[in-house]
Amino acid sequence: MDKLLNDLMAIVGTEGMLLGEDVSQRSVDWFTGAPCRAKAIVRPRSTEQLSQVLALCYQADQPVVTHGGMTGIVHGGEAAPDELVISLERMNRIEEVDPVGSTIQVQAGVTLQHVQEAAEEIDMQFPLDLGARGSCTIGGNIATNAGGIRVIRYGMMRQQVLGLEAVLSDGTVVSSLNKMLKNNAGYDLKQLFIGSEGTLGIVTRAVLRLQPRMPSEQTALVAVPSFDALTQLLGLVSHELGLSAFEALWNNHYKLMTTESGKHMPLLADDSPFYAIIETLGLDETRDAEYFSQILQKALEAGLITDAVLANSSSQRQGIWAIREDIEVLVKELKPMFSYDVSLPIPHMEAYVETLEQDLEAQWPETGKMVVFGHLGDGNLHIMITVRDDSPESRRQVEQLVYSPLKEYGGSVSAEHGIGLEKRDYLNISRSSEEIALMKRMKIALDPKGLLNPGKVVALD
Ligand code: FAD
Repeated sequence: MDKLLNDLMAIVGTEGMLLGEDVSQRSVDWFTGAPCRAKAIVRPRSTEQLSQVLALCYQADQPVVTHGGMTGIVHGGEAAPDELVISLERMNRIEEVDPVGSTIQVQAGVTLQHVQEAAEEIDMQFPLDLGARGSCTIGGNIATNAGGIRVIRYGMMRQQVLGLEAVLSDGTVVSSLNKMLKNNAGYDLKQLFIGSEGTLGIVTRAVLRLQPRMPSEQTALVAVPSFDALTQLLGLVSHELGLSAFEALWNNHYKLMTTESGKHMPLLADDSPFYAIIETLGLDETRDAEYFSQILQKALEAGLITDAVLANSSSQRQGIWAIREDIEVLVKELKPMFSYDVSLPIPHMEAYVETLEQDLEAQWPETGKMVVFGHLGDGNLHIMITVRDDSPESRRQVEQLVYSPLKEYGGSVSAEHGIGLEKRDYLNISRSSEEIALMKRMKIALDPKGLLNPGKVVALD
């Protein structure tokens, strides 16, 4: 073992360092299970240990890659054989829950689900929610500025963070564990780290905002006859209901998840062009349920929906959400799968998807297949494509089809998953050269030796 690893082990202990097979057995890619190639995984227990670890790495010019729950899907956790992984998995404590101030203070390695459960214990809620909730960590959610299914009501991770602590590449600890809603004392430094994908500092602790728990939850799956009806439906339910989620499923997605794969019960016939999952949160179960079905009736009469199924138990609710969230079905059915997460103004979505379908069909008439779903209210589409070939050339060609039109629409190559390595070459579609130049200046200012998550988000050379 080289001297640096020995010195690091002296800080974190033998339990805190993984080598050899313990490293390669871990995956860096949720979709493919590709193994971790780093030379070691260092697992500090505290901010102090991490600070000492990074100070030594800084002296030794040792690059590091941070790992949270490893559910990120843009190759942000990929590590080269000469890089070290820093895993936050042993920093997973909930440090303080404050029902009066409506805050929770946690270490960055705690899972999202653990935080949600801790909030429920005091009859509150932590509203960020996404399919990977059981594995993804708060540090990863902050580093990627995660979105998920309730952004329409509560915003992204950025809106949930009141304060945070981060360690810079030279080991400096910047502790800004603010608990107040209002604090305009100079620059809001936490914003530097939110969404920076581990390239500017490693997040170690955070103070998060809790929200009042909403005991009444109404959920429906509806069939929608056209894209125009889908947008009108979104308008109607946004104005009339306490909307917390509005997830659109194109017919190709619904059909694959239900009748084609046989994995989920087709709760509605599979011949509608669009489907939507509508969810509201409120305070009065009886009144909310009644009002919810009245609004859906109104939508039916206006021709905005043609059929609907309303959940009246939590297992029915889970059945509806499983159609949207069971990504494993897609991974299996569309193998090898390319996954995209784009955003664009809602009025352009239909034309964008239609053109993409036609281009795919023209280039891969035999093998091309795509499914589309997403957080419609946020302008966010998830597009899963297979051409039954994952060669770099095919990947590149499909990326061109997906990303190139976004510039014209003023869209983004990353709505919520981040840039990582996967989308770095396409950053200029969504950001100007001045913006990218400023990102590079910020990277150099905070991480002058380029040791944190090298090559992710922006390339310095
Ligand atoms: P990781 O995958 O471990 O890391 C992600 C990035 O953050 C990497 O660049 C890593 O280096 C960096 N990082 C991790 N921890 C830290 C830290 N403490 N300090 C600094 N940098 C760090 N995302 C959404 O936004 N919305 C969704 O709806 C959504 N649904 C998903 C559903 C499934 C089934 C899956 C597999 C993923 C989904 N994702 C979604 C993507 C993913 O879950 C999120 O990006 C999540 O925030 C990643 O958290 P993580 O702990 O797994 O981070």
